Amino acid sequence: MKKQLLDNSIIQLEELIESYNQPKYRAKQLYAWLLLGKDYSEMSNLPKDFLLELQAEYTSKSVSILKKQVSKDGTKKYLFQLQDGATVESVFLPNKYGNTICVSSQVGCKFDCKFCASALAGFSRNCSAGEILSQLIYVNVDNGGTIQKRAIGNIVLMGSGEPLDNFDNIVKFLQLVVDERGLNFSNRNISVSTCGLVDKIKQLANLNLGITLSISLHATTDESRQQIMPIAKVYSIKQVVEAAKYYFEKTGRRVAFEYIMIKGLNTNYLDATRLAEISKQLSSHVNLIPLNWVTERSLQGITKQEARRFCDRLNSLGVSATIRRTQGDDIDGACGQLRNKLELKY
Ligand code: SAH
Repeated sequence: MKKQLLDNSIIQLEELIESYNQPKYRAKQLYAWLLLGKDYSEMSNLPKDFLLELQAEYTSKSVSILKKQVSKDGTKKYLFQLQDGATVESVFLPNKYGNTICVSSQVGCKFDCKFCASALAGFSRNCSAGEILSQLIYVNVDNGGTIQKRAIGNIVLMGSGEPLDNFDNIVKFLQLVVDERGLNFSNRNISVSTCGLVDKIKQLANLNLGITLSISLHATTDESRQQIMPIAKVYSIKQVVEAAKYYFEKTGRRVAFEYIMIKGLNTNYLDATRLAEISKQLSSHVNLIPLNWVTERSLQGITKQEARRFCDRLNSLGVSATIRRTQGDDIDGACGQLRNKLELKY
């Protein structure tokens, strides 16, 4: 695999450019092309000889598009191929208050949560920072965005993979997207979702990046959590909540708990009481998620009325809780449905 230009920050590109005996200002020109997803052949203001030299060692595009599907609600799912042939998906979620992109941080997943499709084909490898950034660049451009006028306002690391299991690369990605000389995102508009890797949550808290941490909780007892999330055998709910508290104390950012409502497992009267006890230990919000269908998984969701009742009960216990709107499920683009498949019927 060739090295990837997009793994570099603008400062690193300046150094790189100088090592090719080119003036430093060319880094800015190069980066502008890269952030627009352009190939070497389109970089008209850069010397041809220099581009040829660069091309011998570096790729300008970390991902290429294999397939795009558009949902009836406007959600778009993109299947990308990485240089080594591996594939990942991203989802563009339009919203009148700003569009969101959901990016993947790993090819497949190791964690095998029983409601999710991402681990069904196993785990292949981590995505590099440039490969995550490239997903965003492509989707921005495909939706009419530029560098100054982005088509994307919010970023969620909630695609396939476990972001905190790919810690160094996602931190680098986060630094790249907020760079003022790059796409200049605000930390406030970025969320990282984790299945609850306690040590890594603390490590992230210590960096105090100003991003939102979402924790996939999904149960209120260790026993029921272990039934659906193998990682619950490693970390107890108590440890996860301690880590969430630590995150809040270090960063001052409200933590989001994600909670998929699963029939017969986690939405009875006592669950609401326990969930209230958990969430009130820190400044937090509970995102109740309707279970999205994954054929190979046997779990079932609850009805809309049951979900409403569960949410109302939490609210009456003083919990800030809302039910997440499902988007893109007709194209398997909703939470937990990403699995990197290229169906032949398209
Ligand atoms: N590994 C990370 C990020 C990926 S999952 C994590 O575990 O948080 C992103 C969100 O989608 C998580 O809250 C996850 O629990 C949720 N999710 C996974 N499968 C789902 C499904 N079938 N229906 C609804 N939400 C799902």
